[in-house]
Amino acid sequence: MNMLKNLLYVFRATHARLGAAVMGEMLHGIFLAAPTGILLLIIWELFNEQPDIKGIWLKVIILTVMFFIQMWLARKVMVKTYNVIITMTSKLRLMLGDHLYKLSLGFYKKRDPGDLASVVLQDVSNFETIFGDQFRNMVGAAFGTLFLSIFLFILDWKLATLMISAIPCSFLIIIMAAKVGRKISHRHIVSRNETGSRFIEYVQGVKYLKAFNLTGVRFSTLKAAFDNLRKSSIKLEAGLGPLALASFVVFEVFFLLMVYVSVSHFKNASEITITVPVFVAFLIVGYRLYAPLQLLMISYAVLNYMNASVERIRQLLEAPLQDVGKDIRPERYDISFENVSFSYVDREVLEEVSLTIPEKGLTALVGPSGSGKTTITNLIARFWDVQKGKITIGGVDIKDMAPQTVCGLISQVFQDVYLFDDTIYNNIKIGNPEATENEIMQVAEKAQVTEFLGAMENGINTKVGEGGSKLSGGQKQRISIARAMLKNAPIILLDEATSALDPENEIYIQLAIQELVKEKTVVVIAHKLQTIRNAEKIIVLKDGHVNETGSHSELLKNKKLYYQYWVTQQKIGGWRICDHAH
Ligand code: ADP
Ligand code: MG
Repeated sequence: MNMLKNLLYVFRATHARLGAAVMGEMLHGIFLAAPTGILLLIIWELFNEQPDIKGIWLKVIILTVMFFIQMWLARKVMVKTYNVIITMTSKLRLMLGDHLYKLSLGFYKKRDPGDLASVVLQDVSNFETIFGDQFRNMVGAAFGTLFLSIFLFILDWKLATLMISAIPCSFLIIIMAAKVGRKISHRHIVSRNETGSRFIEYVQGVKYLKAFNLTGVRFSTLKAAFDNLRKSSIKLEAGLGPLALASFVVFEVFFLLMVYVSVSHFKNASEITITVPVFVAFLIVGYRLYAPLQLLMISYAVLNYMNASVERIRQLLEAPLQDVGKDIRPERYDISFENVSFSYVDREVLEEVSLTIPEKGLTALVGPSGSGKTTITNLIARFWDVQKGKITIGGVDIKDMAPQTVCGLISQVFQDVYLFDDTIYNNIKIGNPEATENEIMQVAEKAQVTEFLGAMENGINTKVGEGGSKLSGGQKQRISIARAMLKNAPIILLDEATSALDPENEIYIQLAIQELVKEKTVVVIAHKLQTIRNAEKIIVLKDGHVNETGSHSELLKNKKLYYQYWVTQQKIGGWRICDHAH
């Protein structure tokens, strides 16, 4: 069965230690069932011509004691079980996080972030709550049924067979229901996630929507998603309920059947096969036999729902990772592209690009927006894999390095800085979790972070808000530059890292970068050509091709694209920083 397979997968993946919990539940099950046995003994005693009243009293006392033990055990076992389950789910979340980290960015292109978040948050907690609630039912159904059927078989195997045949019958109905159920719950989960994604999109985009006065339009897509969710929720309840109920009813029918057969055997005095005590035992124990199974049937809908969630967790965990290869560590840190072609989706963004980036020096990438500069830095960091050609670092093909190894060699400052909802201090520390406070303060100083700390309520311990929402673009960039400096990796990629800075701070950051260049491979993408004129090498890109390369003065002599940019920029904004640069 698909559900069983999925559950086993989760147990195996999380190395779940369910043994003790199962044993506990079984022990608890015994204490739960034992009073029925004692009750039977009391009833049998009453059938005697002279019932032993003292013996009955003794049994009643044992019954009371067992009741208390059972209560105590129930609590113990419940705590144990929840412990195991919560350990399991937190492991699942970690595994998912770890796996997501190792997936290539290409994967994220195909999946909605809201959808991924709902797997990690919603689906895992679906599993946690439903499995937690149903675990007892499942163990009870498996163990209790077996235990009680053996007992019934010993009493009267014919009646017992009759009673047990209710199980396969009800199972058949459940298998039919499973087909319908899977479809309905799948549809429900899809529309639930769709609603989540639309909602995230709506909240994130609300400022743009307002700016363009589009709130009405986008809200209608969100509303449509809500509406869909409502419909599929109704279907879920209405569709699965009756099916589960049908198999529930099967048990009642078989119970009645058993009563009927027993009673008809009584009437026929010549061939009495069933004695009154056996009948009474079947009435009492038989009812017990079905109880856990019936509970499972009633929870069939939620179990199915849980299964759909587990299925999605499993899919995500089984999404293929980037080809890890051999993991060779390079000894030098020059970078080269050899006939690299790359497309994100279908259009080629880089076509047959060949270039070299020298070690211990500053190389600049310039070119119009959309020419592929950011793409080049993302490929160096192996966020994506190239489709044709190869990229090497220190002569080693980056496909022969694990993505983590490549990431370890690179400090990257992105065009759009992302900060975590934490303090400035901790956001810098991400660059190197082992860094001392001293080291952190040093890079904060170099990257001009200290310069604006005075204006913050708690200095370096001020929280930055989600994504750094409480800071200006320039402040965020300085924090991320400090973070990159702290990482102290041999390769530094700066993607318009200084674009949001005012000229004065930009100069200071430039100085800090000059410092770094002495021992590192630095690649800078910049729009303001002034800031990169000292670069050893400038690579000019256009439409995914290398247009020209050379030093500032060489390129000016070429009088091609770079020259045109330079002349234009001198005319418009050159006056701003010329004074400082000289
Ligand atoms: P630049 O940094 O030079 O402005 P990019 O490298 O960001 O240019 O983009 C190059 C081209 O690739 C552009 O046409 C852009 O639309 C496209 N592109 C960039 N990122 C993605 C992406 N994640 N998915 C699809 N296309 C992308
Ligand atoms: Mg870019």
